[in-house]
Amino acid sequence: VHRPPAPPVAHGQECDGRRSHDVVVVGGGVIGLAVAWKAASRGLKVGVADPHPGAGASWVAAGMLAPVTEVHYGEEPLLALNVASARLWPEFVAELERSSGRRVGYMPCGTLVAALEPGDRAWAEQFFAFAAELGLEVQWMSGRQVRQAEPNISPRVCAGMFASGDHQVDNRLLVAALIEAAGKAGCCFHRERADWLDTAGGKVESVRLSSGALLASTSVVVASGAWSADIGGLPEACIPPVRPVKGQILRLRCPDGRQLLARCVRGVVNGTTVYLVPRSGGSVVVGSTVEEKGFDSSVTTGAVYEMLRDAHRVVPGIAELELSEAVAGLRPGSPDNAPMLGPCPGVEGLLVATGHYRNGVLLTPMTAQALAAALCGEAMPSDALPFSPARFQVPSWSR
Ligand SMILES: Cc1cc2nc3c(=O)[nH]c(=O)nc-3n(C[C@H](O)[C@H](O)[C@H](O)COP(=O)(O)OP(=O)(O)OC[C@H]3O[C@@H](n4cnc5c(N)ncnc54)[C@H](O)[C@@H]3O)c2cc1C
Repeated sequence: VHRPPAPPVAHGQECDGRRSHDVVVVGGGVIGLAVAWKAASRGLKVGVADPHPGAGASWVAAGMLAPVTEVHYGEEPLLALNVASARLWPEFVAELERSSGRRVGYMPCGTLVAALEPGDRAWAEQFFAFAAELGLEVQWMSGRQVRQAEPNISPRVCAGMFASGDHQVDNRLLVAALIEAAGKAGCCFHRERADWLDTAGGKVESVRLSSGALLASTSVVVASGAWSADIGGLPEACIPPVRPVKGQILRLRCPDGRQLLARCVRGVVNGTTVYLVPRSGGSVVVGSTVEEKGFDSSVTTGAVYEMLRDAHRVVPGIAELELSEAVAGLRPGSPDNAPMLGPCPGVEGLLVATGHYRNGVLLTPMTAQALAAALCGEAMPSDALPFSPARFQVPSWSR
């Protein structure tokens, strides 16, 4: 099934032999691109190193901005960061669309949760109580109310919930806009892998690219997603503990452009969840699996079958759509499912922005703001402070 390529770096955005920067960002997914854009907008000379900017998890994702329906038991500390980043989205979109001249498909449409079977209703009730206890904006709905809001949801739906603050963006339009805006702000792209970080006297000195070229820089931001631990030369205490968490996802297309849904729908079907995210032009994103399979990005028939089966039970009308894409991506998972943001203590000029796991798109504005502040020698926003990479550093006395 066809997978469209990520947008290329345009002519004029390449670094063309530039070998010295204030900041080198390693990795050009939504995280690296947004950090690069914000840092360049503040007057820093920024180079992004990435052989395929935008082609990682950021291209595969569903683009949900969902602090509420993505909240998990035990992840309450992350919730405050997610909510704070969700609040930044409207202004972030306005600025990005102005700077890039591109739309990003931001839809402040809310998210509907639909429970199909009585057991699913019990799950939804528990989740509703948990979310309400956390003070999140959620509204309980009867099956009839769910169907009134989304007539294409199955008549079997027995109850539901509406999260009015969970929105969505078209992640692929977002990637394209970030590449454009970063370039316009003066950032340039090295279309190569960063192989090695050179440090001397406890300071960052340069980044070595796969061609052997050396990029001198006073600051380096490690933002290479699930591959962030693979850069040679990182001091041991600064190797981010990230691992790839595989996610398979589908894109369906309505040939006549008809819109099947008005908002994101999360179905709970016999205890498993499936989401359907409508996109302009009549396509729907259906996802996703969460698999611990290492660096494997194959698409399996079993996963495609199960996602289609569950999505079809929630919205039977998807049977009429074309299956246009089946793809897998690698989320950068961290030990506590939360990102690592900011300076790595002990190495001047080395910063980390990775480990965003399921919420990298949602956390893009907050990450960009926090890292740009740190790169300019300012305090990071208070919401970002608990997510310093230092929380995973083992004290030397205990090694
Ligand atoms: C199926 C799926 C659905 C998802 N849905 C959502 C969602 O709805 N909402 C949400 O908020 N998040 C979602 N996510 C998570 C989100 O996609 C990620 O958290 C986010 O994209 C991470 O961005 P990133 O820039 O850190 O990594 P990536 O987008 O993976 O980018 C990393 C980049 O680093 C580059 N790179 C790697 N190694 C090197 C190197 N040595 N030198 C230079 N460059 C290098 C790669 O080429 C790549 O471009 C989803 C993820 C998946 C897989």
